[in-house]
Amino acid sequence: MTEFDYVIVGGGVAGCVVANRLTEDPSVRVAMLEFGTDKNHKKQIVRAPLGMVTFMMPNLAFLGGTKMMYLYEAEPSRGLGNQKMMLPRGKALGGSSMVNGMIYIRGQKEDYDDWRDMGNPGWGYDDILPYFRKSENFVLASEPDATKNFTLGGKPVREQIDMNYHGTGGPVSVAPPRSPNPLCPTYFEAAKQAGYKLNADFNGEDQEGIGYHWLTQKGGERWARKAVTPTRPASART
Ligand SMILES: Cc1cc2nc3c(=O)[nH]c(=O)nc-3n(C[C@H](O)[C@H](O)[C@H](O)COP(=O)(O)OP(=O)(O)OC[C@H]3O[C@@H](n4cnc5c(N)ncnc54)[C@H](O)[C@@H]3O)c2cc1C
Repeated sequence: MTEFDYVIVGGGVAGCVVANRLTEDPSVRVAMLEFGTDKNHKKQIVRAPLGMVTFMMPNLAFLGGTKMMYLYEAEPSRGLGNQKMMLPRGKALGGSSMVNGMIYIRGQKEDYDDWRDMGNPGWGYDDILPYFRKSENFVLASEPDATKNFTLGGKPVREQIDMNYHGTGGPVSVAPPRSPNPLCPTYFEAAKQAGYKLNADFNGEDQEGIGYHWLTQKGGERWARKAVTPTRPASART
């Protein structure tokens, strides 16, 4: 009988990260149990950014979305006029990262600091920033021209980014959008005139403001690759 040191239930984002880190030590044996398929990362509808929109539309179920998603629903909510909220989750190796909106956003610095201050040493923003950097391959660092046509507040976006918040060489590719909506500059200008702050990098010093999102993409496609080599008994293969 095969023995394992660790069993991870669910090969989603968290499960894959934990498996990846544990297996950096080749002597460690990890079993990952994932309910969904390990083939989604190859499908064009998963890789193409707009594809995920179809997964949540019952009329487009023939495109295979329900095979990639659990279409959960919440209980009817009085605050929503007794409507049920849709709560989709990804069903595949890679979990919801195979179906999500690909927006790369780390969270607000103060929230992490609050966690630390509630008695969780190591969870402050300064403690975890090195791990965000370690996990990231920020495309702008290797391809400075990737945002050459992007401006915010009249200045090129790339000149407003503090690279101390970003990493290179990590497993998660983080890229600017390849085809931003041409109305973005007009929208940003309108926001500025209305008194809103512009922000060239929501993963930098401050999250507040209006600007472009970075995406977990590479070459304009969802960053989806096989993170682990699954081994399954022949009887479990479909
Ligand atoms: C439609 C959508 C859009 C989103 N957009 C964004 C976005 O733009 N940016 C962003 O940062 N986040 C986004 N998210 C959220 C983000 O994808 C999730 O927060 C993240 O994937 C959660 O990771 P997780 O490991 O907790 O769970 P998941 O990644 O969901 O992984 C859970 C895994 O467990 C498996 N599983 C469940 N039950 C079992 C079982 N009994 N046995 C075996 N396997 C099981 C599932 O199949 C799944 O693969 C989005 C999510 C969705 C659904």
